[in-house]
Amino acid sequence: MSSDNPTNCLNMSWRRIVVKVGTSTLTAGGQRLDPPRMVDLVRQLHELRQRGAQVVLVTSGAQQAGREKLGFPETVKSIPFKQMLAAVGQGRLMHLWEQYFDLYGIVTAQVLLTRQDIEDRHRYLNLRDTFAGLLERDIVPVVNENDAVATEEIRVGENDSLSAMVANLIEADLLVLLSDIDGLYTANPRVDADATLIPRVEAIDGSVLLFARGNGTAMGSGGMHTKLVAADMAVHAGTSVVIANGGRENILLDIAAQRAVCTLFPAPISATEGRKRWLLAQKQVAGQVEIDRGAAEALLSKGRSLLPVGIVRAQGKFERGAIVAVIDELGQTIARGLANYASQDLLRVLGQRSENIAELLGYDYGPEFIHRDNLVLL
Ligand code: GLU
Repeated sequence: MSSDNPTNCLNMSWRRIVVKVGTSTLTAGGQRLDPPRMVDLVRQLHELRQRGAQVVLVTSGAQQAGREKLGFPETVKSIPFKQMLAAVGQGRLMHLWEQYFDLYGIVTAQVLLTRQDIEDRHRYLNLRDTFAGLLERDIVPVVNENDAVATEEIRVGENDSLSAMVANLIEADLLVLLSDIDGLYTANPRVDADATLIPRVEAIDGSVLLFARGNGTAMGSGGMHTKLVAADMAVHAGTSVVIANGGRENILLDIAAQRAVCTLFPAPISATEGRKRWLLAQKQVAGQVEIDRGAAEALLSKGRSLLPVGIVRAQGKFERGAIVAVIDELGQTIARGLANYASQDLLRVLGQRSENIAELLGYDYGPEFIHRDNLVLL
């Protein structure tokens, strides 16, 4: 490989990778889902897992699978029609993925999302827990938009953005957007012979967005512009992004081996740092909790989570998922984080040991009031 190898800065410590596959990749440019193409992607995902990475697959193709199943009905440009197609096709799409992952003994889980599921704080925390639970058990989450129920107001509309949201949610190190094009070009390579591939983009500014004009794919919902918007969202949250051609042999392995033809958008900060910044950028806190000296010590010098047992008092009315301030005995704000329990629940469990939560509330969302991953020290 040449020294200006496009992805030289790829970092082998990538441990959590979201791979988004567009419809045109899944159909290999045709009209039908292409099983060899899908199996081949699964083989590569398996290989990445063998090397220690956790992977999440965001897959399009439900609507196309629906079209295929229904014998390619005449296209109607309406949302109910698309919802109908997706409802027919999602089962088939998932069935195929499940079968192919099964060849490698990998268990999959279907996760269907809308914008609302990610933006609503309460659901957001539930989703984080769901992904954490799946990844802990070595299961591959297979994600798509829940098109059958996603009305205009609550839908994301395309999977580039959805995959960036998922990457953010699980603090992925890398998001790979697989399309039918090698990456970002200086112009549309399908019409402009002088177009050249840009191997690395440090910042997605106006001049970069200009490159994406008229640069889309025929079948999926996202063109290059939506990819850049998604990439921008991801890099700001600390996830590096690669746009690459899903039709190239061994593309995922080549990305990992730093020899892929692609465009890389390196994140200037880590995903953990991105999450901390996000927490700090939230202006409003919904309430505050005062903690005892032992808990303050555990937070500040041991990097622990905040448990109900260390909480002395709670103020404010807040929901699960709200941002709360953590105050020490002297009244100083020492941290900020996402509450795992609503204020009315916290009032019943504060000062109590975590193993009693389920009995006191009738359910539990885990032993922490604020998990250390959702906590930023000030
Ligand atoms: N969710 C859509 C589907 O599965 C695809 C959206 C997209 O193309 O980005 O058909």
